Amino acid sequence: MIENNILSSEELMKLEERHGAHNYHPLPVVLAKGDGVYVWDVEGKRYYDFLSAYSAVNQGHCHPKIVDAMQTQTETLTLTSRAFYNDVLGRYEKYITEYFGFDKVLPMNTGAEAVETAIKLCRKWAYEKKGIPENQAQIIVCDNNFHGRTTTIVSFSNDPVANQNFGPYTPGFIRIPYNDLSALERIVQGENIAGFMVEPIQGEAGVMVPDEGFIKGAKEICRKNGVLFIADEVQTGIGRTGALLSVCGDCACEGHCEKQATYTESDILILGKALSGGAYPVSAVLADDEVMEVIRPGQHGSTFGGNPVAGQVGIAALEVIRDEKLTQNARSLGELFRARMNQMIEKTALVLLVRGKGLLNAIVINDSEDSSTAWDICIQLKENGLLAKPTHGNIIRFAPPLVMTIEQLHECCDIIEKTIGAFRI
Ligand SMILES: *Cc1c(COP(=O)(O)O)cnc(C)c1O
Repeated sequence: MIENNILSSEELMKLEERHGAHNYHPLPVVLAKGDGVYVWDVEGKRYYDFLSAYSAVNQGHCHPKIVDAMQTQTETLTLTSRAFYNDVLGRYEKYITEYFGFDKVLPMNTGAEAVETAIKLCRKWAYEKKGIPENQAQIIVCDNNFHGRTTTIVSFSNDPVANQNFGPYTPGFIRIPYNDLSALERIVQGENIAGFMVEPIQGEAGVMVPDEGFIKGAKEICRKNGVLFIADEVQTGIGRTGALLSVCGDCACEGHCEKQATYTESDILILGKALSGGAYPVSAVLADDEVMEVIRPGQHGSTFGGNPVAGQVGIAALEVIRDEKLTQNARSLGELFRARMNQMIEKTALVLLVRGKGLLNAIVINDSEDSSTAWDICIQLKENGLLAKPTHGNIIRFAPPLVMTIEQLHECCDIIEKTIGAFRI
């Protein structure tokens, strides 16, 4: 229980409604506290968090080790800017590059900034190493992609909600269908292709899992054609899908086996979200020297990128993943979750299917995309103590923190089953 707050949930929602831009449509719940897999609202009601802040909170809410690292550093030195060295950044850079098997890292803050960084890096590499004529570089992306919200990134989105009336759009991108190796093979052979940027599983699009072999095949096609393979693992990375990185494919080794070599098969790796366990905005772009060396002093930067708090939080967040074997936990709980959902689906016409990998999963509701059914189910789930959010109308994403136990997962599946079973359209 939390002691009584002065303002009720109702009043706090009104404040946001009145004083904040309406760029989100939140579920009507006002959270005041988090611990591990749980969050509490202002009135003290406890919920299971099945969104994990879009997979930022893989390590669980307010993980003591991450909070401690952050608190200690915050009392010592918070920001120097990159005009000077600080005594954390180098250690963090050594740690993260060894962890993921790359030569170099470029630290940023948000996922969108890291995606922008990867785009700039790819273009510069294309002009200076590949010899593409200036201003002609093209980057291939996928239909229904989600890479963030900046003007350049929404320029190559095909979601009208994300990009309508935000033009003129940045040129230099070609969109192909997701999960379509023959389209990639065809387009990649065109002129001036610099890179292919892809989400190994499309999270925002509704947890779209590509065919087995798509990512491996795409990497191969890129290599054969001298095109950079850029993996946006902002949502899928860092244990979420039951592998440290989902581009690694079917390996939960956490980088301790010979398959570690597969990490470097991404020419550019983009990380964010869980890189801080949700404590702080920390993102990163990783690449080998051949690519990273094209960026020289003054050509790219960020006031907050690489600050000492971010460095300490990043190290702690990655240590927790490894120490608590969260990747392996995501993998085994994911299998259990999908098995439980499939049992439920046999007994209800309301849910069509479950899909996902590790603890990044979604169920598809048997109703049209513009119906409110998925939203209404999420409201009922909330009443029953579990928070999840619809994505693209009739899809509900389920992505709890990876620190969940088997018993807790069963309890959550019971809540979902009971809610769906009692639901009437
Ligand atoms: C969330 C997300 C981003 C953007 O991250 P922000 O921190 O919100 O800017 C980029 N790519 C993917 C795949 C994401 O899920």
